[in-house]
Parts: sequence; structure tokens; C-alpha cells
Amino acid sequence: GFDDGGEHARLTRRRAAVMPSWLSTMYSEPIDIESGSGRHVWDAEGNRYLDFFGGILTTMTGHAVPEVTKAVSEQAGRILHSSTLYLNRPMVELAERIAELSGLDDPRVFFTTSGTEANDTALLLATGYRSSNQILALRNSYHGRSFASLAVTGNRSWSPSSLSPVQTSYVHGSRRRGTVLEGLTDEEFTEACVRDLEDTLDQLHGNVACLIAEPIQGVGGFAAPPDGLFARFREVLDRHGILWVSDEVQTGWGRTGEHFWGWQAHADNGPPDVVTFAKGIGNGLPIAGVVARGEVMDSVAANSISTFGGSPLTAAGALANLDYHQRHDLRGNARRVGAVLRAELRAAESLASVGGIRGKGLMLGVELVRSDGGPAPETAALVTERARERGLLIGKGGLEGNVLRVAPPLSLTEEEAVEGARALVEALRAADSSV
Ligand code: PMP
Repeated sequence: GFDDGGEHARLTRRRAAVMPSWLSTMYSEPIDIESGSGRHVWDAEGNRYLDFFGGILTTMTGHAVPEVTKAVSEQAGRILHSSTLYLNRPMVELAERIAELSGLDDPRVFFTTSGTEANDTALLLATGYRSSNQILALRNSYHGRSFASLAVTGNRSWSPSSLSPVQTSYVHGSRRRGTVLEGLTDEEFTEACVRDLEDTLDQLHGNVACLIAEPIQGVGGFAAPPDGLFARFREVLDRHGILWVSDEVQTGWGRTGEHFWGWQAHADNGPPDVVTFAKGIGNGLPIAGVVARGEVMDSVAANSISTFGGSPLTAAGALANLDYHQRHDLRGNARRVGAVLRAELRAAESLASVGGIRGKGLMLGVELVRSDGGPAPETAALVTERARERGLLIGKGGLEGNVLRVAPPLSLTEEEAVEGARALVEALRAADSSV
């Protein structure tokens, strides 16, 4: 820990120095993370936690994976120099690997340092390619915290902005309690969303650059739309030449267990034009990027340089991380262990406060409701505290903050899945009986 006179002083200092005053931490007493190994982290007091959130899905292969650590430290000893003015081997190799894995036609990769910048780049490409600053996005979405990515984020609790560099229209495409589409079957839901998209495009005379969407909304609470929805969207978009941008910041790298990318559950009418990625590829290192069809990538004439995007340090770490992922088939692991986790969580379904459990692979959401069926953010806050007391870290999400998010590293073992699920069910029971 820091040498600053104890936890309370440290906390006070951090509140003053680090956070904007309006930003709250996850727990009543923030956790001071100090080290990690595999799926576990330790705080400064020496408490051990099973990590079921991976620092918001950033930890893909696990904490302190020796192969990743070695690649980063060797690269740090070689050179830290960074700039896309020059080539560097790790960046080029990583670009080739991601292009090959992307499933896109004629793929090109551009690296950034965050998911936000990756989405900004995607918007730059789409608006340039289409000469339109009209964007379609989904209600309840989250795409980042820059001026442009906030301007396409449906969940406005993240966005204090009033001016916007793009014009965004929000269409239906996410399943959420309390909306006009609640209670529809998958088929009815899909038809309603397609009609909404068509109607919105009629209003805009089809003059739209792109639809940007998360295949499963992350911050929005892990509710997956019916498989095939985006393939139906793609058919409509194609009539106007509108691009499909898939934000795979949370759903990429096999997180859903079924596929390598979330969009692949919606692939009937071809791949997206642009995919954005971040989080898991760096295993905690700041690396992200865009992979796009060559024609789209080349359409923006501005000679764009990113100083830190694809730095040899982060690229070397990401390469080792991706190697580990593929050698151990972590996509397959996410499916197998995700099924174990889902089965164990079934024990929570009978609790009054549990409105439903949803998601895919190692991306599971537990929705908490009040007795009248309305959202229960207070119960969610209570469960996260009770889980912490049982040595388990989980996340929260959903527009109302009433969805628990479970997204462990993709290397989670079956034993850890069982252990963590049981701790979560106990935490849910403890909170259930106190509300
Ligand atoms: N897109 C999605 C779907 C995200 O979940 C996030 C981060 N939560 C972002 C974009 C932004 O990524 P970053 O925080 O790396 O800027």
C-alpha cells in the first residue's frame, strides 16, 4: 500500500486527488487492490477475493499470467518507444493476428489506447465514408466517455453533454423490463425492432452513416437480444448503404462462449463493416482498436497518427495474452465453465428479489427486482457488499443499477465457478432476507 498513514487517510487523499466529486466508488469502503494471481486478487490488508468482474472484463487470461508478464517485461527492457510513425514488430504481428480473427472482408486494424477512442475512430470512419453525421444507436447503450462516444450513448446518466458532434437517433434493440417491448416473444421483439429501425430510417431519408451497437449491452446489464436481430438490421441497413459498427469491447474474445465475437450470433447477412475492441485483449494493459473493411478504413484521407496506439509494450503484452487465449481455447472454456456457473446460479432463481438471470458464456447478469416488479438498485448494492464479505467481487449495471454483472476471467476453472456461484447465492439470500 501507500505509506500515508492508513486506509482512511489514503481514502480521503484519493477522493481529493483522483475522482471527480460526483463519482462514487463501488463499495461503501473502497477496495485497495494490490496484487493478483489467476482469478484472485488481494487488497492492501491481505484479504483475498475471487474476481468475478475482472476489472470490468479487462482481465481475460487471468491476473499475473507469467507468459504475459514475461512478454511485457522483456519488451520494456528492449524499448518503450512509441509512435505509429515507425513500424514495430509486436504491433504489426498483433494487427495481422486480429485481422485474421476478425472475420471481416479485407480487414485493416488501427490501434488506440481505449475502447472510447476505438469507437471515436469508428465514428470518424463511418461519418467520413458516408459523408453524414447521422448515427443510429440502441437505447440503453454505452460506448465510452469522449465527446463523440458519449453522443451515441443511449444511457444518458453517463453524459452531462448537451452539444453533440453527431446527430444520434436511438432505436429499440435491447430487452429491458418496463419498455413498450416487454413481454414479447423473440420473434415479436425482432419484428418490432426491425419496424422501428425502418421507421426511423424513413424519417431520416436513409441519410445515416452507421448503426453502432453492442451485441450484448455491457453497462446496460447483460441482456442478450434474440440471435439474428442484427442480421435483420443489416438487411435494412444494406438497402441504404449504411455501415454496421459492432462494439465488441465487452463481447469480444470469446466472452459469450459460443463465438469469438458477439456479432457472430447475427452473421446470416454477412459480417459488420467495422468492429471495435478493447478491454480483454490487453489483460489490463491499455490497448484497444478498430478493425474495418479496407475500403472504409481507407476512406478517411486524414493522415491519422496515434502516439500510444499499438505501442510495442502493450502490443507485446496483448500478443502473449492472445497466444495464451488460443493455446488454452478460452472461448471453449467460457462456454463449458459458463454453463457450470449458470447451472449453479439456478439456486438463486426462486428468491423473491431475483427477477431473472440472463446472458451468455461468462457474461451473466442477475436482475434484481422489488416485490412490485420494479428495479431494486438498493438490493444490488447490498448484494455486492455481502459478496465482498464472502470474498467475491462482482459488478453492477443496468440503467437503474439493479443488475449484478458476473464476468470473470475467461480462464475460470469449474471449481472456481462453483465456489463463486455459491458465494453469490449466499450473498443474494442474505440480501433477500433483509429487504
Ligand atoms: N464500449 C463498451 C461496450 C464498453 O463497455 C466500454 C467500457 N465500459 C467502452 C466502449 C469504453 O471503453 P474504455 O473505458 O476503454 O474507453
